[in-house]
Amino acid sequence: MQDALKAKAATTARTPRGERAQTSDAAAPASLAASVHRSPRAARRRRPGSAAESEIAGIRITSARRVIDADSGTHKLELVRYYARVARWILPHLRERPVSLVRAPRGLSGETFFQRHSGRAPLPELTEHEGLDPGHPALLTIDTPTALVSAAQMDVIELHTWNACVGDIERPDRVVFDLDPDPALGWDRMIEAAQRTRALLAELGLESFCKTSGGKGLHVVVPLTPAAGWDEVKAFSRAAAQHLASMWPTQFTATMGPEHRKKKIFIDYLRNARGASTAAAYGVRARPGMGVSVPIAWDELEATTGGAHWILSNIDTRLAAIEHADPWGAYGRVQQKLTAELTFELEAGGK
Ligand code: ATP
Ligand code: MN
Repeated sequence: MQDALKAKAATTARTPRGERAQTSDAAAPASLAASVHRSPRAARRRRPGSAAESEIAGIRITSARRVIDADSGTHKLELVRYYARVARWILPHLRERPVSLVRAPRGLSGETFFQRHSGRAPLPELTEHEGLDPGHPALLTIDTPTALVSAAQMDVIELHTWNACVGDIERPDRVVFDLDPDPALGWDRMIEAAQRTRALLAELGLESFCKTSGGKGLHVVVPLTPAAGWDEVKAFSRAAAQHLASMWPTQFTATMGPEHRKKKIFIDYLRNARGASTAAAYGVRARPGMGVSVPIAWDELEATTGGAHWILSNIDTRLAAIEHADPWGAYGRVQQKLTAELTFELEAGGK
């Protein structure tokens, strides 16, 4: 991994962007460039923060020491380094998949932006896909370690992906159930809810995978061989959520809104519409403490303590464990399709 990143850095250093990085003084504000010209050391002493620039995966990191989360004391460089480190694990979940970004140019204490398309200020290295979201600018994908680091350099913290890839955008390749607990509910109820979701899917012949959201809940993901279209997939997810709510009405609700969720878990199937997105596995959350969304094996669920069980400051031990045994190792091998019969079965059984 390290070698791959270094190799990429070496090749990108020959690109025009790399040359700019090497002659960064020219791009600095005039006053700073002038002082650098007079005495680089003096300038560094005066501006310790801005001088702490680093290059990662060929991308020049600016404001590296800016604190993005006062709660955990995380600075920008730590976030960028995390994404560089986790590239090998997160990229399979990002590549070719339209991504929405949560950007925090001034850290969590400042305003954050949810960005679903390319904007006026370009995001270098991200791939643009025109025409996939009619009436909107290009959709974006993050396909390489360099693009990932570049996004973090552009103050991206969260990465939310669609349920389909750009090459087959009308046929989702997964379904996501987002389990959102009433904050008053104990975590053991969430564990049970996720297990019940899994059991229902298994009864329908569908294998599912679980991850912490990095926030308050869990995400249950069902990989699909692309076949059914958006409407069909969403209808299935609605039927499954409503089925769970009718089986265990005191535990689940499939209706959005805190008034319906009192002492319950909202099983959010609305993530399965065209254009909707879910925080990516291995992505960081723009919330105090900087949770990370982490894949788990089903038999690990009972040992979790919350949606933010893993955070930036304890993620490395988890990554080492995943290196040893990937909890989602089977994900890519699963071959299963949704059929209209499954939805029909759920609707018939749920009444
Ligand atoms: P939790 O476990 O805490 O519920 P989560 O990842 O399941 O975390 P949210 O972070 O609340 O849920 O995000 C809900 C969804 O709404 C995201 O997947 C994203 O697609 C979308 N979203 C998030 N922030 C915004 C926003 N500012 N504007 C529009 N949509 C957003
Ligand atoms: Mn959620």
